[in-house]
Amino acid sequence: MQKIYLDNAATTKIDKKVFEAMAPYLKGDFGNASSLHWFGQKAHEAITKARQQAADFLNCNFLEVYFTGSATESDNLAIFGAMRAAQKKGIAKPHIITSAIEHPAVLEVVKHLEKTGEIEATYLAVGKEGVVKVEDVQKSIKENTVLVSIMYVNNEIGAIQPIAAIGNWLKIKNQKSKIKILLHTDAVQAVNYLDCNVGKLGVDLLTLSGHKIYGPKGAGVLYKRKGVELEPIIFGGHQERGLRPGTENIAAIVGVGEAIAEILNSKLQILKIKKLRDKLIDGILKNIPGTNLNGSRESRLPNNVNISFDGVEGESILMALNEKGVAVSTGSACASGSLEPSYVLLALGCSVVKAHGSIRFTLGKYNTEKDINYVLKILPGIIERLRKISPLK
Ligand code: PLP
Repeated sequence: MQKIYLDNAATTKIDKKVFEAMAPYLKGDFGNASSLHWFGQKAHEAITKARQQAADFLNCNFLEVYFTGSATESDNLAIFGAMRAAQKKGIAKPHIITSAIEHPAVLEVVKHLEKTGEIEATYLAVGKEGVVKVEDVQKSIKENTVLVSIMYVNNEIGAIQPIAAIGNWLKIKNQKSKIKILLHTDAVQAVNYLDCNVGKLGVDLLTLSGHKIYGPKGAGVLYKRKGVELEPIIFGGHQERGLRPGTENIAAIVGVGEAIAEILNSKLQILKIKKLRDKLIDGILKNIPGTNLNGSRESRLPNNVNISFDGVEGESILMALNEKGVAVSTGSACASGSLEPSYVLLALGCSVVKAHGSIRFTLGKYNTEKDINYVLKILPGIIERLRKISPLK
C-alpha cells in the first residue's frame, strides 16, 4: 500500500543531509563539549557551527541563540524566565498577554501561572479568520504588562499572526515607558515558510523546534535578544551560558543547525507546496458538499488545509484515510487522542459539531501532485460512506 504523509505540522521526515550530519556525533565523535581535550573541542566546534547556522537564519548574533530540548521547553523558558526576571525587578504580579489559540506549550504555562496567582493574564480572542488584532494587543496593555506572547502561525489552522506589526508598535511604546514589554513568538510552524528575521519582526524572544523542519525530535532553539533578562528554569552547570544547563545533545544540536541551514536552500519548494495546498482545498470544497475551510484563506501558511465535513466525525475520517495509507490529523497532535473538540476551532466561533468534524492536512516538501490527486480521488467516497452511517447525520 502506498503511504502518503500529510501531517507535517505534527512532525516531519528527517532530511537525509541532516541525518548524515548528525550521524558522526552518535558514533565516534562522542565528546562532551565541556571537556578540554580533542574530543571535547570537536563537540564544542559542532555546537558553535550550529549556533552560527541558526543565527544566520534569524539574522542575529550567534550568542543570542540558545539550544534547548524542545520547543515546549523554549516556550516555558521564555515565559517563566521573563516572569521571574520581572519579579526580581520588583513587579510583584506581572501581566502577560497571549492569545486564546496558542499551542499548549504557551497556553498551559500562562494558565498555570495565573492559577498559582503569580501573574495576571489576558487571552486575546480571535475572529472567524483566527487572526489576533494588533489593536487588541494595544488595548490590553496595563501598567504591569511585562510580556506579550503570540504565536507566529497557529498549528491547527495555519493562521499567520501580525507579529511584525505588534513588534514594531511595542518598540515605539517601549521607548517612552519605564517597564520594557517583551515580545515572544512561538515560530515553530512558521520557520519553513516565513521570514524569521528577528530584527524585522521586532521580537525579543523566538522559539523554534527541530522536528518540524526536517530535523531531529528533542531539539529546540530559543532566540533571546542581547540585553533581555531571563531567569533560568533549571539549575546546574554553565552550559548555554547558564540559561539551559545540562550536557548538550550534540547530535540533536548539529541536526537542528543543519535543518535550519537547509531551510534557506529549500525556499523554492514553497510555491510548489502552496499550489498543491490550493488544489487540495479547491478540490475538496468543489467536489464534496457540506464542507468549509477553517481559518483565513489569505493569511494562511502555504502548507495548511483544515476542513470541517458536516455530519461526520473527524476521527472516523482519519481512520478511513489511514486504512488507505493517508496520514492526517484531527486538530493538533497534542489534542488528538482526546475527544474534546479543538479549542482553536471553538475560538474561531465554530460549533462543537463542526469542530468535531474537522481534519487537518499539512503538506511538506516531500509531497507530490500524485499524493493530492490520490486524496481527492478517495475522499468523496469515504465521506459519502461515513455520512450514511454517521449518528450525526
Ligand atoms: N509550538 C507549536 C506551535 C507547535 O506546533 C508545537 C508542536 O506541535 C510545539 C510548540 C511543541 O514543539 P516540541 O514538540 O518541539 O516541544
